[in-house]
Amino acid sequence: MRLEIQQTLRSIPIMAIFTAPWFVAEVRGHSFIYDNISAPGFSHPFLKYFGSSYNWLQFPLFIFFTDFCIYWIHRALHHPILYKRLHKPHHKWIMPTPFASHAFHPLDGYSQSVPYHLFPFIFPLQKFAYIALFTFIQIWTVMIHDGEYVANSPIINGAACHTMHHLYFNYNYGQFTTLWDRLGGSYRQPNPELFQKESKMAADEWNRQVVEMEKLVQEVEGEDDRSYGPPEHTVSVKKVQ
Ligand SMILES: [Zn+2]
Ligand SMILES: [Zn+2]
Repeated sequence: MRLEIQQTLRSIPIMAIFTAPWFVAEVRGHSFIYDNISAPGFSHPFLKYFGSSYNWLQFPLFIFFTDFCIYWIHRALHHPILYKRLHKPHHKWIMPTPFASHAFHPLDGYSQSVPYHLFPFIFPLQKFAYIALFTFIQIWTVMIHDGEYVANSPIINGAACHTMHHLYFNYNYGQFTTLWDRLGGSYRQPNPELFQKESKMAADEWNRQVVEMEKLVQEVEGEDDRSYGPPEHTVSVKKVQ
């Protein structure tokens, strides 16, 4: 957890610098952020078609659009050219904690945030909806790393799906739904054991996950060079007793 927090604290200031120009462009009025749909001078083709129902439509549209973009950005980050340079710091955490939610290489974290900032430059977005969605995204990102598998849903990309991603790498790249993973052929259904309280923490289940995970680490990364602190503090995860 300490290492996850350190990685996050190193990255956030750099991500914030890259994000600042988006906010500058927004406050200078170059985006489609709006106060009131009928405010004078505000127009967008979508508002002509959907009228005031767009006030509700923007929520699913925001999720649909950003889920699609993040799927492809995240999938690209797993390409061997980008993976080792940019995305591997986030995959240091095989079994993440909530503190891994923002523990990224700064360019990795930034690139996965671009769809959220891009959205109001393409589609209208009400300013309070923007804040509500921003808050929701932060909480969601923490929740999918927290190992509490509440939803065993075939549609929602919850904590169990994202745990599968950290354990087995090249599956479940999505952020909110399983839609793009299903269409892109990268969906992997969470192990049913994750939802059974006793077997979730059982040594047998952990050992099975470790064997499979280590095979995939070799496939994806070659040599596993993870270390989690000075040698005297390094605990072998090879076999859980
Ligand atoms: Zn990943
Ligand atoms: Zn993650």
